[in-house]
Amino acid sequence: MSVSRRRFLQAGVVGTAGAFAAGTASGHPLMMPSEQTEELDRVAAEPVLQVGDLTDPVEIEGMELLHVEADREWLVRVRSTDGAEGVAVTSSGRFHETYPLFLHRVAPFFEGSDARDLEMRLWDLYRHGSSYKYQGMLFWCCVAAAEMAILDMLGKVSGKSIAQLLGGVRQSEMPIYYASGHRHNTPEEEAEHLQGLVEDTGAKAVKFKLGGRMSRNADSIPGRSEALIPLAREALGPDITLYTDANSSYDVPNAIRLGRLQEEYDYGFFEEPVPFDHLEETRQCTQGLDIPIAWGEQEFSAWRFRWMIQNHGADIVQPDLHYYGGYIRGMRVARMADHMGLITQPHMSGWGTGFIDLLHYHAAMPNPGPFHEYKGQSRVPVESDTSSLRPEDGVIQAPTGPGFGVTIDPDYIEGARRVTL
Ligand SMILES: [Mg+2]
Repeated sequence: MSVSRRRFLQAGVVGTAGAFAAGTASGHPLMMPSEQTEELDRVAAEPVLQVGDLTDPVEIEGMELLHVEADREWLVRVRSTDGAEGVAVTSSGRFHETYPLFLHRVAPFFEGSDARDLEMRLWDLYRHGSSYKYQGMLFWCCVAAAEMAILDMLGKVSGKSIAQLLGGVRQSEMPIYYASGHRHNTPEEEAEHLQGLVEDTGAKAVKFKLGGRMSRNADSIPGRSEALIPLAREALGPDITLYTDANSSYDVPNAIRLGRLQEEYDYGFFEEPVPFDHLEETRQCTQGLDIPIAWGEQEFSAWRFRWMIQNHGADIVQPDLHYYGGYIRGMRVARMADHMGLITQPHMSGWGTGFIDLLHYHAAMPNPGPFHEYKGQSRVPVESDTSSLRPEDGVIQAPTGPGFGVTIDPDYIEGARRVTL
């Protein structure tokens, strides 16, 4: 067992006794890899969506794409033939480029179908018209938007929250880590910024950027990362959990060097140390360092997630609900990770209501990490009867009402422009 795994288990962070705890780095010692692969497939294939109590069909009449130009937000609204409605905020930062794919391939695919069949139909959609050829973040963002709107509608029809539809609420309070997006300020400026994020929200954990983003070892400002690692610890003190994100900046030797420096200052995880699709190199970092390696925000392939989970390519998996195609696929990744004793700390894309999306995923997942990503409030005017939707002493309450459990200002939706082909 690697030291990082042992530290996790000792800290009680991992709720499930994982296969890694039992022996080799490649998995359970008594199982051949092929058996283990089959087991992971079985775990992933178990039904996610709980809609058995909906006895009548929920026929989808149509889906609309709505654009709020001033805020650069894109929303999807779905309606049933019985007049039920669901609304989801998309990964808006991607949608201005990917929306034709949504209108050509995704929205028409669901029209006329029974929303209760959503889970089964995801595979059909992947195959339909050879959509798999478009597979990648842009395709899956479209699928996620449709899926989330349908889940919101199914929740409203059944009276269940999305977390309940995903199998039930395991934890209703989500402790946050505040992710700073700066990369071009000085170490002193960033340390002060991080202090402000903690003071404003009560967060017990923060994340900041290292390196230059896909930069082949170049830093955004020479020496910034090496200076910021000790400085952030000094500025925030010993009780705040510190995470870093290199956005694929380094090769393995430099990632190990920066990882060792973080170990010296007791950091909690190191995200995307090397190019995100360099799976073997990411695994070398995981095996070579004690600090846990976090990975997965760019990943869109179920099979590559399975490979990384089975082979302990990372310590923490970070599927993005939008980039990876929605809750149902995201739950399958969390289950596979849980089966192998890994934790899931999903990536939160965009600036919209992404943290509200996360609240339901976090509530339902079997293997959450100690803190989850938060990047500030949404521009979409949204409120909830069951949650302030704000961090209070570093924790956000998951809404418990039907669907997302939130209300987007109806005037905001009515003022949006309907986008068609
Ligand atoms: Mg990242």
